[in-house]
Amino acid sequence: MNRDLLRDYLAFYRDLGVKDILLPTRAREQAGEPTPAGEPTRAREQAVDIPSPEPQLLAILPTPAPENDTRERIRQDLGDCTRCPLHKGRSKLVFGVGNPRARLVFVGEGPGADEDAQGIPFVGRAGQLLTAMIENTAAKEGIPLKRPDVYICNVVKCRPPDNRTPEPDEMETCGQFLFRQLAVIRPKAICALGATAVRALLDRKEGVTRMRGHWFRWQDIPVMVTYHPSYLLRPYNQNAKRESWEDLKKVLHYVYD
Ligand code: URA
Repeated sequence: MNRDLLRDYLAFYRDLGVKDILLPTRAREQAGEPTPAGEPTRAREQAVDIPSPEPQLLAILPTPAPENDTRERIRQDLGDCTRCPLHKGRSKLVFGVGNPRARLVFVGEGPGADEDAQGIPFVGRAGQLLTAMIENTAAKEGIPLKRPDVYICNVVKCRPPDNRTPEPDEMETCGQFLFRQLAVIRPKAICALGATAVRALLDRKEGVTRMRGHWFRWQDIPVMVTYHPSYLLRPYNQNAKRESWEDLKKVLHYVYD
């Protein structure tokens, strides 16, 4: 982990109200700190109000999936895709990663430079923040969950030039494969990260600020809307960090309680 990322993490958790960070014994010793006996090993659990999802919109979107569709078949159908102009700048197609039977799926916008190089979604700075948010929030809420337990994918599977927002026709072309992935996994809930995921899944144009923290539906699957982690990396979005933490708590409790 580099210094910038560490600074972002620390600022993120400070903004969430976390005042103390427990260092492992070795790190404390290296930092010259004594290790108190009987230190807490687990974050204090908090009672949270978990409303059941109430659909505010039923987005009926066709899923042009063949019968008995599978992840392998979707990947095969995508092939060495040249259906839209995004393929021209691609190094690696970024299909998706995680548990094929995940109860929770995160949907982002599209690969950035790191994802394009590795062929894995959310591995750059935003991805590392997403991973930390998932794992640390789950741990704090007493939910045994790691990144490989969920599934993570994007609306478009090739990197848009200069990380621009995908065009509607690119979203539509690639969206059919996203829908097939979601239909095959059939998670208990989906978390839509940012405006592009919201547009693709819910076909709504209101800002994420208005929609976040609320439940919607993609077909019959509850969708929680929250901010994209890239947005949270900007230093002036302090409130958004707190809000996205609340959104994540809501979705984790809904899925895993
Ligand atoms: N942003 C996204 O939307 N997806 C990724 O995979 C990485 C960054």
